[in-house]
Amino acid sequence: MDNEKYQLRKEKSEAMIEAGVKPVIDGFNEYIIPSQTEQGLKYKVTIKNGWYACQCPDNAKDNLCKHILFLKTHLAIKFKEQETRKNTSTSVPCPACESCDIQKNGTRKTIMGLKQRWLCLICGKRFVNTPIQKVKGNEESIITAIDLYMKGVSYRGIADTIRQLFGLEVTHVTIMNWVSCYMGRINDYVNTMKPQVGEVWHADEQLIKAKGKQEYVWNVLDGDTLFLLASNESPTRNYNDARETFQQAKAVAGKKAQLVVTDGAFNYQKAVRKEFATYANPKPHYRYVSIRAKDASNNKIERFHNTFRQRDKVMRGFGGKQKQYAENFKTYYNFVKTHQGLKQTPAQKAGIDQKAEWRELLLKAVQHPMLTTPNSAPEN
Ligand SMILES: [Zn+2]
Ligand SMILES: [Zn+2]
Repeated sequence: MDNEKYQLRKEKSEAMIEAGVKPVIDGFNEYIIPSQTEQGLKYKVTIKNGWYACQCPDNAKDNLCKHILFLKTHLAIKFKEQETRKNTSTSVPCPACESCDIQKNGTRKTIMGLKQRWLCLICGKRFVNTPIQKVKGNEESIITAIDLYMKGVSYRGIADTIRQLFGLEVTHVTIMNWVSCYMGRINDYVNTMKPQVGEVWHADEQLIKAKGKQEYVWNVLDGDTLFLLASNESPTRNYNDARETFQQAKAVAGKKAQLVVTDGAFNYQKAVRKEFATYANPKPHYRYVSIRAKDASNNKIERFHNTFRQRDKVMRGFGGKQKQYAENFKTYYNFVKTHQGLKQTPAQKAGIDQKAEWRELLLKAVQHPMLTTPNSAPEN
């Protein structure tokens, strides 16, 4: 193989990683990768017995094309991320320095049986999976921090409030770590619960301007329970972003909707068909035309725009962490906020027996033993 050309392809594939190009899963071991030179053109890469094949002309000439190189690197990164998640997801922050950078470090025999031991990668402290009372600060201050974070108070502002209310000397970094550790655990925990949702889902996307940058926020809402199945963020608004959002929704619901209703400017047709069409249900998409869009009583999402606008406003303040906030908001909206129309939370409406408060979620999440299982989205 021509080494120089290989290097060039390798560099191009790395540029694709850096540019945040995302392959779309298209059936078992098949991935769609957008062409980098021609807009709208896509190549399918198929993996069979460890061999990669691409539809592009470059691979047809037996060259290891940039799409394959890109996909290999992308999958390796994803795998590594998953491993890291497995090793850290049952953690609490390090009791000495509050860092979340911790790693599994063997087990320790205690009178309660074997306990997971952790090593803090920042300060080197070893500790067993600490019950929540032992964390610097306490339940009360953590709940307060999470609550204020959801409302868009800055980390510094939260640290200040915690100092005032609880007399605890905490820095904004500590607050950031609390939110990321505990919200991570709570999200993992709520993701183990399957809401019983209906057959008609409503999808839309909104443009927000965050620190001079454009971002899109995507929603998929179940029409029956008002359960928010996906709350996603992306810098772009295209077919792949829509599909990623639908894949999130399907993973949460554990099924496909029969009908997806949209009213936005964006054309969802192709993405909806790809993610929801079946032989028995070839036309799963319904789009409101502009005149009927005014008939907002039909469009569930329209009625939630106030709630979502609140989220979108807060999200503008989270430079680079919008996706995380969107995910955290989904938990807040579904499990904590009592819906005025429903008189309960969407989760309760969807048959999940869970008190509408952070406290119970936090305590259950911390004690939940199953958190090491990573969630996997169902493939098409
Ligand atoms: Zn290729
Ligand atoms: Zn530490």
